[in-house]
Amino acid sequence: MSAIDRSTAWPYEHGEPGRFVYQRQGHPAGTEAEEALGALEGGEALVYGSGTSAVTACVLALCRPGTRVALAQGAYYGTGATLAQFAPWGLDVVEFDQTGAPPDADLVWVEAPSNPFLTLPDWEALRAHPAPVVCDATASTPVYLRALDEGADVVLHSATKYLTGHHDALIGATVTRDPERRARLYEVRTKLGLTAAPDAAAALVRGIETLEVRVRRQTETARELARRLAAHPGVETVRYPGFGGLLSFDVEPDRARRVETATRMIANMTSLGGVRSSMESRHRWEGDRVPRGLLRLSVGLEPVEELWADLEAALAA
Ligand code: PLP
Repeated sequence: MSAIDRSTAWPYEHGEPGRFVYQRQGHPAGTEAEEALGALEGGEALVYGSGTSAVTACVLALCRPGTRVALAQGAYYGTGATLAQFAPWGLDVVEFDQTGAPPDADLVWVEAPSNPFLTLPDWEALRAHPAPVVCDATASTPVYLRALDEGADVVLHSATKYLTGHHDALIGATVTRDPERRARLYEVRTKLGLTAAPDAAAALVRGIETLEVRVRRQTETARELARRLAAHPGVETVRYPGFGGLLSFDVEPDRARRVETATRMIANMTSLGGVRSSMESRHRWEGDRVPRGLLRLSVGLEPVEELWADLEAALAA
């Protein structure tokens, strides 16, 4: 890509606004990222300052006081926390198991696969439901899921994760095929100042260039690690949907801290989707919503045998 244009304002052309005017409305790197992501998802993309800003934009664009949102149980806990911020404004949130959304839901919010439980939505049931569907496809990426083709109305990404892929950019995105929804999301983004920064948008353009090779390799490694973990005597449950680099597994509750701090190659930190593997106990953030022994592992691009040696040693610690 070309050099990053960090201008916050561009001169008018003969006294008239040109293609870019003021950075909050849009900027070259953002537009380039939106075109690249839109092509992958088969819709019109918009980028935001974070995945959470994209969640906020969806609430403000698609909901009003009294809207009943059916949210995927076990979805990223932060999404529930963001939606809860809108309770004083009359947003009504109920959880469902990603199969049958309550018939009276006005908006259905799924996550494919959910983080950290790795469950998948039932698309047939969703298509039969009259409400619009938001699908957080952060962990699938468009390499494994084109949610608009499955029947989602809006796809959402924390592009902070796989789409940028290097743990060095905070950015979110939505993609939709409906021009009115896109226009409303754009209005909310601009009026609430939820725009992505140019550097993060440039990181997204760069990340998309290597997305497919990264996530296919991460899938190969994650599949093998899930298989070996499932056969390990120190591991109780392995959750892996069969694709992608994200998995979770349970160890004895009292051993979780020991295991997560014993790895040497796998970083003990939050977040996911980077080229370097990371792992953490999710109980520290989510409390009893997750088992105390649950460890979430985001598989990077390191050699599978080295990752397995690291995990095996940590499990024996
Ligand atoms: N959606 C999912 C599935 C996530 O995992 C996250 C962050 O972990 C978010 C949304 C929020 O994204 P961000 O951290 O970019 O605000």
